[in-house]
Order: sequence, then C-alpha cells, then structure tokens
Amino acid sequence: MNVLVLGAGQLARMMALAGAPLNLKVSAYDVRSGNLVHPVTLEVLGHGLENGIAGADIITAEFEHIAPDILSTCQASGKFSPGEEAILTGGDRRKEKALLDKAGVNNARYHTIQNREDFDTALSTIGVPMIVKSALDGYDGKGQWRLKSLDDIEPTWRDIAAFLQASHQGDRQCVIAEEFVPFDREVSLIGARNANGELEVYPLTENIHTDGILSVSVAAGENEALQTQAEAMFKAVADALDYVGVLAIEFFDVNGTLMVNEIAPRVHNSGHWTQQGAEVCQFENHLRAVCNLPLGSAARIRPTAMINIVGEVTVPDEVMRIAHVHWYDKAPRPGRKIGHINVCADTTAELSIILKDLASLLAENEFPALKDAASSLSK
Ligand code: AMP
Repeated sequence: MNVLVLGAGQLARMMALAGAPLNLKVSAYDVRSGNLVHPVTLEVLGHGLENGIAGADIITAEFEHIAPDILSTCQASGKFSPGEEAILTGGDRRKEKALLDKAGVNNARYHTIQNREDFDTALSTIGVPMIVKSALDGYDGKGQWRLKSLDDIEPTWRDIAAFLQASHQGDRQCVIAEEFVPFDREVSLIGARNANGELEVYPLTENIHTDGILSVSVAAGENEALQTQAEAMFKAVADALDYVGVLAIEFFDVNGTLMVNEIAPRVHNSGHWTQQGAEVCQFENHLRAVCNLPLGSAARIRPTAMINIVGEVTVPDEVMRIAHVHWYDKAPRPGRKIGHINVCADTTAELSIILKDLASLLAENEFPALKDAASSLSK
C-alpha cells in the first residue's frame, strides 16, 4: 500500500521506517516546496499534490499547520485520514476549544479576542494571571503572551495588536485568552482509533519542557486514577472527531485532576518512547489505523524515557552503550529538534540510574531537565 504523508519532517521519516516491515511504502509531500520526497533519504520523487494524491492509496499528515486548500483537495480524494476537520481543529485553537467543549472534557476557561473590547472582557472575566495564545500557527510555546500582573496589560496589548495586524492569516487569525492553570505537572496520552471506533491507548507519559520545547518524556510508574480520567477524555475527543489514526492529548495535572491543554491530530513527540518501550510503536499504530489494518497492542513493555536532542549539541557515541539514539538527519540549528534518545530499563529505579549515567555523558546545559527527570524517578 502507498501512503502519502503531508509534511516531510522527522515524523514522516519515522512513519516510513515503521511501515517498511508491513510493506507500507511511505512518501512525503513537502508543503513548502511542493515536492514529493522519500521521507528517509529526502530524494525528490516527483512534484505536485495532484501527482502525490494519484499515486497514494492513503493520505495522512505529520503536522497541523497546513494550508486549507491542500487539506480540502486531500479530503476530496476520499483517501485522507484523520481528515480535513481533525487537522484544521488541531491547527486552530478556536476550533480546538469548541471541540473540547463539545466533547465535554475539562479545559481551561477561555475567551476569544479579536479587538481591544474582547481583550478587556477577557481581563474582567478571566483576570490576571492570564495566558494569551495565537489561534493559528502556534507551536512549542510560540505565539504566546503571559500577563503576570496589571502592569503587563498595556505592553501586552500593544504586542498582541501588532501581532494581529501583521498576521498573514488576515481575519482567520485571532488570539485566545486562557486562565493561568497552576498545574503540578504536564502529562500526555497517545492513542490510536480505527474506523470501527476501536482504541489502543498507551500509558500516560510525564513531560518536562524547557523554554516551551519538550526536553524529556517519561513513561514509567502507573497511576490508575489518572489513566482512567485521561482515557475517558481521549475517547470523548476521538469519538467527537470520528477520528482515525494516532491522536495525542496534552494535559495539565492539577492535584490529581486532569485538564486538557491541547490536542495534536498526529503522532507526537511525547510518544517517541513507544519505539523501544511499547509492544507496537505510535508510528506503526498510526499507519495501521489509517490503512485499516488491525491495531497493535499499546501496552508498555518496560519503563522508558525519551530525551530530545535540540540544537547544536554533542552526543558522544558512548551513549549508544546504554541508550537508543534516533537521528533525524537534520542540520543543527538553535531550538531545532534534530534527534532523540530512548532509554529503557527493567524497573523505574533502574531507569533512574541509567538516566543519571546518561546525564554524566551529556552536557547539562545542552540537555536541560535530564538530571531532574532522573532524580524525580528515584523518589
Ligand atoms: P501550549 O503551546 O499550549 O502547549 O503551551 C506551551 C506551554 O505553556 C505548556 O506546555 C505549558 O507549560 C504552558 N501553558 C500553556 N497554557 C497554559 C495555561 N493555561 N496555564 C498555565 N500554563 C500554560
């Protein structure tokens, strides 16, 4: 079967690698250049979306910031999963918030802002502290403003007004104000849903971010109560979208109660641990779901942690003695994810020890949060 992925980054690459044993041939459509490329070698295979669609049995996506005309063309082909509506929802916080409300899942109070009047209403209904996020084009904490005190109101509004005016998205762009959630930690749930509505859901992963970018994800101890809450919300959201494929949901854990932060209608960075830590990884399960093949078990086979390799950093080969290194064949640039490291162990205590060993091989400033993750596991 031929699968076309919209987007030619590391997620398409890892789908191609996971699909090979199933004879699933994955190619990628680079939405910027219009080229059809091999997702692993980046060899150019052709040009143009129409050609890509003609050669594909199935179409899917690796990210959500895709022009609406590309999405509607793919939708019209009848081959697109999870489909236009799911991708548009993941790429637009306004739609996302409406979906969370429709699905009846707990999420931060919000107000949509298009002008100063809306901003003032948000200030009076939500109050300070408040966090404001762009509706479109926001990722890894970009397009966000934090109002910590009343002194921030005027300068922040000037920034937001300038942002709205400069947006190339025109009237489609707006910002969403959210209450500031005093969360204890951030967790995410990744799962696959097939066309019959069957689910395979991985255990919750704890995520540690640095400057808005994911540093470390840990899939270790079980918390049955949180897992039950997360799975119920996952099912509600996936069913509301009639979703087919892998879906990721990021949550805030507020004193044992989960609140959805955002969804990603695709395989997700916080699910990379599944490559070594789960029976069937998220990339394979995504392909299985969209190709209408039986889903594979999402059971965790051993405690596992994933550490992102971000920017111009050094990873000595010695790391390979204790961990699995996944490179994306990308040129290093500040803030750019260029690979990740998966670390597995038989027990949580052993995972903590191996993470400490790993930390001793890597520069602390290049791998922030690694030491903290190791010591929080040993508690
Ligand atoms: P996002 O792009 O929505 O994932 O936001 C990036 C990061 O900002 C999240 O990972 C949180 O650490 C933080 N954040 C987002 N929304 C809120 C909120 N409503 N309250 C507190 N922190 C938030």
